[in-house]
Amino acid sequence: MINYRANIWAMKELGVKKIISISAVGSLKKELKPGNLIVPDQFIDMTKGRSYTFYDGPKVAHISMADPFCKYLNSIVIKQAKELGIEIYEKGTYVCIEGPRFSTRAESKIFANVFNADIIGMTLVPEVNLACEAQICYSNIGMITDYDVFAEMPVNAREVKENMSKNIENVKRLLADVIEHVDLETDKDCTCCHSLENAFM
Ligand SMILES: [Zn+2]
Repeated sequence: MINYRANIWAMKELGVKKIISISAVGSLKKELKPGNLIVPDQFIDMTKGRSYTFYDGPKVAHISMADPFCKYLNSIVIKQAKELGIEIYEKGTYVCIEGPRFSTRAESKIFANVFNADIIGMTLVPEVNLACEAQICYSNIGMITDYDVFAEMPVNAREVKENMSKNIENVKRLLADVIEHVDLETDKDCTCCHSLENAFM
């Protein structure tokens, strides 16, 4: 089991200021093709039993998640992907499920048609909100590995692995390039938490 709290806290103690996470995700829309990348701008949390906060009492932090991803980091990832000629979708809603199992057809249809979400994965939450509590900028690159089961073919682990290795080379090139262009000191266009001042009652 991943210890999200320990990982994010360790990064904070190391002085990390910005996180770009990478996820393998399923596509919930026909036009979002496996083999391509996506930068989500919203998420829906369908996880069930994770550690979601550093402040589980007596102090409780009510952080804003209205704009959960760093607009500054997202814009650099998108710009550099375009410069490298890497196909990338510029926004989308990520449904995070508990896993490790994949969705049923009924669940997948709800995520695609009722939630109107774009991609589905298992790793985003609670990284994204813990990063906010730790006041670290956070952005995510989704590697689309498969069509989730709303399509005719049920997803299987082998398909995910094959598309993932196709994506990995692009992500490595992109990250190396993005890291060179990120200004660690800037707050420009950044929508992340820089203070928890307003989060406590
Ligand atoms: Zn930010």
